[in-house]
Amino acid sequence: MIGMRVEVNFAGRSKIGIIVAINNYPELAIEKIKVASRLLDQDPLVGDSMIALVDWMQKYYHAPPGEVWQTVLPTALLKGEQNQLKRQSHWQITQLGLDALKQNKIAKNAVKQQQALQVLADKQSFGGVANEGLSTLGLNRASLQSLAGKQWVKQEYQSLSSIELAVTVNRPQNITLNDQQHNAVESICSDLFKFRAWLLFGVTASGKTEVYLRTIEAVLSEGKQALILVPEIGLTPQTVQRFQQRFNTNIEMLHSGMSEQQRLQAWLKASKGLARIIIGTRSALFVPLLNPGIIIIDEEHDSSFKQQQGLRYSARDIAMVRASIEKIPVVLGSASPSIESLMNVKKKKIERLNLNAKAMNTQPVKFRVIDLKNQPIKHGLSFALIDTIAHHLKNKGQILLFLNRRGYSPVLLCHQCGWSSQCQRCDTHFTYHGHADSYSGSLQCHHCGSSRRAPKQCPDCLCEEMVPVGLGTERLEESIISLFPDARVRRIDRDTTRKKLAMKNFVGEIKSGQVDILIGTQMLAKGHHFPDVTLVAMVDMDGALYSSDFRAPEYAAQLITQVSGRTGRATKQGEVVIQTHLAEHPMLQQIIHSGYATFAETALNERIQAELPPHTFNALFQAEATHLGYAKSFLQDVKKILASRQPDGVYLLGPAPAFYTKKAGKFRYQLYLESKYRLDLHKLLESCLIEIESLKSAGRVKWRMEIDPIGD
Ligand code: ADP
Ligand code: ZN
Ligand code: ZN
Repeated sequence: MIGMRVEVNFAGRSKIGIIVAINNYPELAIEKIKVASRLLDQDPLVGDSMIALVDWMQKYYHAPPGEVWQTVLPTALLKGEQNQLKRQSHWQITQLGLDALKQNKIAKNAVKQQQALQVLADKQSFGGVANEGLSTLGLNRASLQSLAGKQWVKQEYQSLSSIELAVTVNRPQNITLNDQQHNAVESICSDLFKFRAWLLFGVTASGKTEVYLRTIEAVLSEGKQALILVPEIGLTPQTVQRFQQRFNTNIEMLHSGMSEQQRLQAWLKASKGLARIIIGTRSALFVPLLNPGIIIIDEEHDSSFKQQQGLRYSARDIAMVRASIEKIPVVLGSASPSIESLMNVKKKKIERLNLNAKAMNTQPVKFRVIDLKNQPIKHGLSFALIDTIAHHLKNKGQILLFLNRRGYSPVLLCHQCGWSSQCQRCDTHFTYHGHADSYSGSLQCHHCGSSRRAPKQCPDCLCEEMVPVGLGTERLEESIISLFPDARVRRIDRDTTRKKLAMKNFVGEIKSGQVDILIGTQMLAKGHHFPDVTLVAMVDMDGALYSSDFRAPEYAAQLITQVSGRTGRATKQGEVVIQTHLAEHPMLQQIIHSGYATFAETALNERIQAELPPHTFNALFQAEATHLGYAKSFLQDVKKILASRQPDGVYLLGPAPAFYTKKAGKFRYQLYLESKYRLDLHKLLESCLIEIESLKSAGRVKWRMEIDPIGD
């Protein structure tokens, strides 16, 4: 019965639990034991290894079992949904449909139908398209049904036993692995039945994905399953496509864009061994696998692998633990690995594999820093950058302008009295949006999400001279259009990609050469392969270089590496321009002249010398309350308890205001714990948490304790 769900009544409310062990507690009074009213499953949802993983998470994060299981299981199962696979239906193209396509019989205005027929023709050898997969491919049922009326396509119901478990591989002819790729594949595949952790440190476009694909090929041929974690599936549809093109087998996806039921179905297929490859975001790490073979984390440095709500965990760390429990290899891949992983290489917990050269391009990218000090700037652009853009436009190269700030301007100011658009609930300013779209636009707080109409008049002095201050992507787009009226410009940020498929359509436009200038936030930095981009310009790097967070240089270096990696991916020469007032910043100089590896080496040594993570270990107590004093005094009580244990080698720093002291109307304070030894830190926490939970002052605050905290 272990691994099955039960229903238990608690004070008249039925709750769902999971059986993790069967024990006899003769000392427990019978009236203290709840009777389970119902068993929900016939087969276990999870096996021993997931139970062991949850156990580890409970201990490591000092989290209650319920919270961990909530993180690990799909929502549908937590709500009591049946643990049953549904019969799937697939859409297939018919011979008539193939003929119709060949003879161009589709009405000119039936664009959707034409598109659907083409997709089904492409997917013919893959057994068509599953009903649930329609929307991710941009197809809708209506057009398929009208095609079915003409008998050009048909819907087939598939019995589960016939799901294709065989694998055929479509290896491209023109790719022969280079020596480093070959060595990486050989090393990882040398023992697929043992836990080993690898860092695949490959510069952008060095062919890391190709290494994953070859490794997965070996894993599949052993009859095992591969789990691949990526930062954001919606943003990188191409990655998924590459897997689908390469392997003709059952590939499942798991991400937040899917419905609860879709996620459950994919989860069940993975757990029953019916999915051979699972590609998902952070939480897909918890999908049970019948025959686990390998875990791959692509772009392992990416912040999305750290959960920042609820149980705050690091998917990268848990992946290592899971792989060791399952006795399989784990591969962390990146062009700009986290200092954490490089530290693990130093400690010999991870083995490093390098890919030092771009797979297709022999010319290295050219870097140029434009020092903005004392330079005339027009709409956020120096004349040198404007000239460079014009030059690349003339040579028909695509241009990517990177600015990590959406909206029109980060502040709206009154020219007369100095009123500024401050969010009342937070410490920060409202961002001004939609200057061009409507006559007044809106003010949006990027921290608490509140928004309002932008005032046309100053709320204080009623004057009408409201001035947008600073540069956001909307404003940059406006400037670029006025400077280069003939260029085809696309802005890609959260605001322009809210609709499903928007990103996919943009990517399609970019790849087919329908865009000259792309303006975008970090959404464009991640993993895209745009072979025609010849110029990447980082319009404003000052903020990233000025930050006080000790991790800021690492993040900025990763950003520069990733963004600049969007050019020079194919055979064309790439150029990267960085605009900043801090041109002499040592990190910037190092990245440009020696690359990320050298920067990271220095950064790692600095962390060791300054006794900062990952050389030391941290835990964080954060409290928020309607009054600053409540949060502070709770943390003072926490500190007293911790100090009373006279912890050896654990430093207590604070309580001090959090970086964003006020957020969404709540005041936030924090207390840091720091130690050279992880064990000391955990022992101390273990001995105090119950007492802390029962503190009287805890009643007035909302608090949490986080292990290995990152960011805010
Ligand atoms: P990364 O994942 O490191 O960014 P990719 O695997 O996407 O790199 O490779 C970049 C491009 O180079 C892709 O178009 C890929 O097909 C191609 N490529 C990768 N390895 C080779 C190779 N050995 N020979 C030729 N082309 C390659
Ligand atoms: Zn005013
Ligand atoms: Zn706010």
